[in-house]
Amino acid sequence: MTDQIMRAPKGTFDVLPPDSERFLAVRETLTAPLRRAGYGYVETPVFEDTAVFSRGVGESTDVVTKEMYTFDDRGGRSLTLRPELTAGLMRAFIEHRLHTGALPVKLWTVGSAFRYERPQAGRYRHFTQVDMEALGVDDPALDAEVVALGVQGFRDLGLTDFELLLTSLGDSSDRPQYREKLVAFLEKLDLDEDTRRRAEINPLRVLDDKRPEVQAQLDDAPLMVDHLSDASKAHYDAVRQYLTDLGVTWTEAPKLVRGLDYYTKTTFEFVHSGLGAQSAIGGGGRYDGLSAALGGPDVSGIGYAMGVDRTLLAVEAEGLDIVPATGVQAFVVPLGAEAKRLAVRLVGRLRQAGISADTVYGDRGLKGAMKAADRSGASHAVVIGERDLAEGVGQLRDLRSGEQTAVPVEKLFERLRDTVGR
Ligand code: AMP
Repeated sequence: MTDQIMRAPKGTFDVLPPDSERFLAVRETLTAPLRRAGYGYVETPVFEDTAVFSRGVGESTDVVTKEMYTFDDRGGRSLTLRPELTAGLMRAFIEHRLHTGALPVKLWTVGSAFRYERPQAGRYRHFTQVDMEALGVDDPALDAEVVALGVQGFRDLGLTDFELLLTSLGDSSDRPQYREKLVAFLEKLDLDEDTRRRAEINPLRVLDDKRPEVQAQLDDAPLMVDHLSDASKAHYDAVRQYLTDLGVTWTEAPKLVRGLDYYTKTTFEFVHSGLGAQSAIGGGGRYDGLSAALGGPDVSGIGYAMGVDRTLLAVEAEGLDIVPATGVQAFVVPLGAEAKRLAVRLVGRLRQAGISADTVYGDRGLKGAMKAADRSGASHAVVIGERDLAEGVGQLRDLRSGEQTAVPVEKLFERLRDTVGR
């Protein structure tokens, strides 16, 4: 036996009221633009066969090599808690042969992701992502739609101190030549073993290395944007044209590479200036090889993942008030058993009528009950004492002014509904 209290695992946290309202507001605001643009909601399991992620996220990534929560189930299958949401959506897209229907297939989801990371501000082992994908069509206008929807979500929250970083990573026709040039360049640098190994699997990832001693050597590195084929360049130009048409501004980021190995062409990230080291609030891009890597048809896709927790930190950093008034509209304070039955009925009817209402539970006494009424956020309360009941009334009380009027019991529901529902 131990008398130590149990705590949430390292790198995880609980979201409790009233802060949880802000969490919900971020989640809702980031997903609303997707619904308006015809994206359909999907749920997939929080765990998948490990291969979904080792193939779908990429063997060279930190996520796959160091951060996955992988375990054998009792049937001896290797399963992994999802470290991100794209691979699972793609697995579902392939399994259910969604590519045989109308294209593009537009999907979104939101939920938990798990990575065994070194916890710090904005970096957790359990976090929440909003994820969207537009699959089956390679059209620069679709890339622009996706990016613009991401921007919209942040704007709708009122965020202003964020920046859209944008680049193109080319495709299977121009990337191999560029890759050779980059490998030749990297070979001449002073890099540690780990980085060399990573460079062998995906040399582009070295460009994104945050360590100053690595960055210092990359000033003259060849950049993908300077080696795009005519087709890739035309694609990227078109994306930028559409983005301009949509009123989106961005910063060119030729060294941007992202966690997934399969990104091609349009690639982007959203960074916020108020967050310190973990500044990325979301990111995404086009991935032409992902479906095939997961054993699916050769279709392209584009999508993004936004970090709900980090976006909430950004909202706090900008001091934004994003929560609509919380609490209930009406509160009922009964004194005595008979009044309590009336209160329970009244609260039930109000809720059925779409009005948020609450009452006290347990024996609180008048003082405790009035305190609960004040804390509830309600503008009005009904207080039903024994003497009131004997007279067939309840007291309708304006909790802000303290003004009180006697209302016949049979009129209480309507009066309360009409007063707080205005
Ligand atoms: P990624 O799937 O790595 O591209 O991440 C997409 C977004 O999810 C990032 O921009 C972050 O906002 C968020 N995110 C990724 N990893 C974490 C983490 N460990 N803790 C909190 N948020 C994260």
